[in-house]
Amino acid sequence: MDGAWNGEWTRRRFVAGMAAVGVVAAGRGGSAQTALTGDGALQELMKGNERYVAGTITSFPEDLKILKEKTVLKQEPFAAVLSCADSRVPVEILFDQSIGHLFVTRVAGNIVTPEILASLEYGVAVLSLKAILVMGHTNCGAIEAAVKGKEVPGQISVLYQHLMPGIRDSHGDVVEAVKANVVFQTRLIREASTVIAKAIKDDGIKVAGGMYDLGTGRVRIVA
Ligand SMILES: [Zn+2]
Repeated sequence: MDGAWNGEWTRRRFVAGMAAVGVVAAGRGGSAQTALTGDGALQELMKGNERYVAGTITSFPEDLKILKEKTVLKQEPFAAVLSCADSRVPVEILFDQSIGHLFVTRVAGNIVTPEILASLEYGVAVLSLKAILVMGHTNCGAIEAAVKGKEVPGQISVLYQHLMPGIRDSHGDVVEAVKANVVFQTRLIREASTVIAKAIKDDGIKVAGGMYDLGTGRVRIVA
């Protein structure tokens, strides 16, 4: 790929990306901050993951320009991601999204605590994002510790109470437990928040669950 072509592609992606998140059309008024539907927002995430897997990410050249010009005073993310805190799960990079595109909440085991739910409700009610993706990952240390009932120091065991209900039927299988936890936490978001349940019903907000494979870099929708 020669540099000039790459530059043009980056510019086109930048314009398309900005239009997709409503920044280009920000002057038009109205409450909708993105023209994407819930399904469209989820597809945008998955397309970004395809670019990441293919090694053709385009978001890095966009970052400084977007930061300087568009996002100092406001944010207009099109999707939220609830991810594990694991350092091998770089959310923006693996979805090839730059500054201002994703509203990211992270906690070990990608669990839905009251604070996480409040943050996601803020994203839906105030920022008008269109999709929420709960994302677990392979080789998750938090899930493994919970499955094996490991004794842990300090406050770490606080995580267990949020993990146990989802993984109790996984029969000690860590891979199965990671998926079961995603399914459980996704359901919690759909059903435990009146704000989000209403947005699903009235506005077509999409709440989905995914698994990130550390080896391949690919995200698979599982809930
Ligand atoms: Zn993890």
